[in-house]
Amino acid sequence: MTSPYTLPDLGYDPGALEPHLSGRIVELHHGKHHAAYVAGSNTALERIAAAREAGQFADLVGLEKTLAFNLGGHVLHTIYWTNLSPDGGGEPDGDLGAAISEDFGSFAAFKAHFSQATTLVQGSGWGILSYEPLGSRLIVEQLEVHHQNTTLGGVPLLAIDAWEHAYYLQYENRRADYVEAIWNVISWADVSRRFAEASAAS
Ligand code: MN
Repeated sequence: MTSPYTLPDLGYDPGALEPHLSGRIVELHHGKHHAAYVAGSNTALERIAAAREAGQFADLVGLEKTLAFNLGGHVLHTIYWTNLSPDGGGEPDGDLGAAISEDFGSFAAFKAHFSQATTLVQGSGWGILSYEPLGSRLIVEQLEVHHQNTTLGGVPLLAIDAWEHAYYLQYENRRADYVEAIWNVISWADVSRRFAEASAAS
């Protein structure tokens, strides 16, 4: 059997994204929230395996939802932490910059679209820039919770958490201010690497 999921280390100190994102938020978000999704993924897989071994599938629907919620959370947070960097900000160039211009008109148009998608998530969710392999293009998605309102096959390149736990301690109800600030710490090097891998794979 394969290994359980583990919480990846942050590639920087929790306070390294200040003043744009407070160290306390990053500490709690990574060490408590993300850690809980990792543990929840492992527990759900164990319970599903036990059900399979026992041939008892009465609770399977709930277990599959629990797995989707927790593993979706683990996948997204793993992307989110690497999408952010104290050396981030600015605009992408190269192939990613060209693809953004091609598929959204300009970086400014993409930024406005992505900011609104993230800010306007109803309740808890994410703004996502994905590479969609069937159309060989970039799309913006408004993901609900961790696993709803999306299509299969798209590869998330940039994932911005719009749950209240991602910003409330610092920005209170002003989600739009958090989204505006996060552009200062987006690692376009990481997003570009993800884009190169996703577009090469298709
Ligand atoms: Mn989160």
